[in-house]
Amino acid sequence: MDFGDLELWFVVGSQHLYGPEVLREVEDHARKIAERLSASSHIPLKVVCQPVMTGSDSIRRLFLDANSADHCVGVITWMHTFSPARMWVAGLQSLQKPLLHLHTQFNQDLPWSTIDMDFMNVNQSAHGDREFGFVGARRRCIPKIVVGFWQDIEVQAEIGVWARAACAWHDAHQLKIVRFGDNMRDVAVTEGDKLEAQLKLGCTVNGHGVGDLAQRVESAAEAEVASVISDYEQSYVVAESLQASGSHRRSLREAARIEVGLRAFLAEVGAYAFTDTFEDLHGLTQLPGIAVQRLMADGYGFGAEGDWKTAALVRAMKVMSRGLKGGTSFMEDYTYHLRNAGQVLGAHMLEVCPTLADAKPSLEIHPLAIGGKADPVRLVFTALSGPGVNASLIDMGNRFRLVVNKIQVVRPEEPLPKLPVAGAVWQPKPDLRVAATAWMTAGGAHHTCLSIALSPAYLEDFAQIAGIEYVVIDEETRLSQFQKELRWNELYYGLASGF
Ligand code: MN
Repeated sequence: MDFGDLELWFVVGSQHLYGPEVLREVEDHARKIAERLSASSHIPLKVVCQPVMTGSDSIRRLFLDANSADHCVGVITWMHTFSPARMWVAGLQSLQKPLLHLHTQFNQDLPWSTIDMDFMNVNQSAHGDREFGFVGARRRCIPKIVVGFWQDIEVQAEIGVWARAACAWHDAHQLKIVRFGDNMRDVAVTEGDKLEAQLKLGCTVNGHGVGDLAQRVESAAEAEVASVISDYEQSYVVAESLQASGSHRRSLREAARIEVGLRAFLAEVGAYAFTDTFEDLHGLTQLPGIAVQRLMADGYGFGAEGDWKTAALVRAMKVMSRGLKGGTSFMEDYTYHLRNAGQVLGAHMLEVCPTLADAKPSLEIHPLAIGGKADPVRLVFTALSGPGVNASLIDMGNRFRLVVNKIQVVRPEEPLPKLPVAGAVWQPKPDLRVAATAWMTAGGAHHTCLSIALSPAYLEDFAQIAGIEYVVIDEETRLSQFQKELRWNELYYGLASGF
């Protein structure tokens, strides 16, 4: 989960017409900007300055190198001077990494009293970047465009959002999603094209026999199980019946055993996302609860009932939100409070990530009315308040659509003393009536990834990088306009996908 040595390449364009002195100055400016961006607390990656580009061959070479550089998650371009953009075509045609076009200028102020032709020869990004922009438009392949002074926090923050989306994209291309069992029987929205997911998002989705997991659980080393239990005891408020002499201690031991086995299985496969389903638990005594919750807290993606698309999305949002304040979790719209603007109580059978918890979670055991297995052990808590997003990835048959709703997670009006699972109460923007109408019009799922660490901007950048459809429901949403947007998108994606 650590961004570690991942980096962005900063590529500045110019041309030979101005002579070596200008190019030296351009290079000096490029290095200073890269250093500042690299040091910015808003950008989680190292920004590596590349040589100033002045010709087609070297640009193509550099972009091919970017493709094969494992640590490079994206490229930032900036045209300090005019840099005829046909020079960039061959490189852009071969670039497979996400691209951000930074439209900035080395000097913040226009030097009113001293500006002369020398200055004008060096500082031309106002028109140099427009030439570069045209080629993106002409190729129908528009990069992320960020405009403003490079020292401004807003500019650095916008680059940072995109950088995190690029990291999630990078991660998705190595992501293996393990599925224990198939989708919950007869459910529609969790279905999807796994090969298309590999082509569009990079992740591989494969089924594994739950019996193989059961075997790992069975053979879990006692010492490891004991160490997990001691971790539970230190980290959570443990219900009396689960304590050492409690009547359900065996269930706690079994839950810890499931966690050990699940971690071992995923590590063996090299998977950072997974699904399970209560309908296929052959060989497991209880539906994994606390194990799933703790794996999510460690950055694993998860989707219940075989929902691998949500597992992929949770993992991507975990990567994007790394080190940011606020949690990110698998979620399900459960029950409404139909007063005022309307509120949603989100929860699931068990699997809500404790990164959302507003206090030390409570470790409890309660019956699960469906599934026919033993009572599962789970962490119970209420989610922190704050602005956030709720996102859903669905398969429209000819494309993936990312549906995002801006939300405000709120403190529950009253305590929920009998709620046996972790939950979050939120107010969807602009209100429940518009949000739920738009959500269902767009086909958004009941399974989502909820985050109070991220804003819609991260998901918009991720969707743009992936080339998938993105629709947002927020304060600006007007239903008639939203419905038209979906209809226009239908036409666009129909035409854009071609044959
Ligand atoms: Mn569900």
